[in-house]
Amino acid sequence: MNIKDLSIEELDVLIREKGLPKYRTDQLLYWLYKKPVESFDDMTNLPKSLREEFDKNFTLWSIKEIETLISQDKTEKKIFLTKDNDVIESVIIPDKERLTLCISTQIGCRMGCKFCLTGYQGFKRNLSPSEILDQILWAKMQGYPITNIVIMGMGEPLDNYHNVKKALKILFHEKGISFSHRRVTLSTVGIIPEIEDLLKSFPQIVLSLSLNAPDSVKRAKIMPVEKIHPFKSVMNIMRKYQKRRKLFTVEYVMLKDFNDSLEDAVKLIETIRSHKLRCKINLIPFNPWPGSPFERPEEKKILEFQNLLIKNNFSVFIRKSRGSDILAACGQLRWKRLNP
Ligand code: SAH
Ligand code: SF4
Repeated sequence: MNIKDLSIEELDVLIREKGLPKYRTDQLLYWLYKKPVESFDDMTNLPKSLREEFDKNFTLWSIKEIETLISQDKTEKKIFLTKDNDVIESVIIPDKERLTLCISTQIGCRMGCKFCLTGYQGFKRNLSPSEILDQILWAKMQGYPITNIVIMGMGEPLDNYHNVKKALKILFHEKGISFSHRRVTLSTVGIIPEIEDLLKSFPQIVLSLSLNAPDSVKRAKIMPVEKIHPFKSVMNIMRKYQKRRKLFTVEYVMLKDFNDSLEDAVKLIETIRSHKLRCKINLIPFNPWPGSPFERPEEKKILEFQNLLIKNNFSVFIRKSRGSDILAACGQLRWKRLNP
């Protein structure tokens, strides 16, 4: 078992059961989350016998870095090997004063969105809490001053909610990584009832809904999840929680000749208004992959779409494509490794 799969409370029980004083829990947490080290042996203020005992009973790192790719635009992609010899990816994206880390929550994904290479690859398994945390802790140990975290890598976080929640609790806990809620964005297709629990449990976390279509009929054509968790119900839940929150984000992947016309933009405006959802909109130009059934719209079309939304008083951003020379988009590297 990996020691970071235990919650902070569970770790404390473990230490107490050994008849050790509470400050030993704090020392252990310091080495796990504040100043991560490579081995139990590096936890120098713990008694040698305790370090050896931990080393016998637990693993400290659940993933191992095998490669870092650095793109021309300074985006870095970390490739990690899991204990079962699969690979997961996280991406570090520098942008002005920010250094954003994008992390994965599953190997593959079972949501099957038609435009997504991770979805196309199918589902293998959930990541454990320690595998989720280790992507962050590895960057921390290597000295990257991460300012923001986006849960937007491989997988649907709310489809692995039990483990994601456990990891988030440690991420935010003052004795854990102590990261600010407001600097974490979770991107989801919207799964009920998990989305409500998330909004209740972490009122300050930034939530991004992957809408990707102006209406339910079109969404169902590219996102099978629409038939099980229709975005209308998801938005109704979100609206209940919007009073004391930062604005929600709506993500909209732009697919050529599918959802990129001005009529689509008008419909999208109507949809968001009819749900009284206060949100900003991120337009994501489609990132093509070999064999993908869609293309990226021309720049001009994307700008026209954006302008119409702006005229209607929405804040709209076009997400830059980062690190395309190192296949930084979601799932591309794992695909390449499995299909050389
Ligand atoms: N499963 C979650 C988070 C991971 S996907 C979700 O779907 O929200 C993160 C974002 O990448 C989603 O908004 C998704 O719509 C988008 N995306 C997936 N494949 C893409 C592609 N090929 N080009 C552009 N955006 C893509
Ligand atoms: Fe899964 Fe998100 Fe890709 Fe859809 S877009 S298949 S939910 S990772």
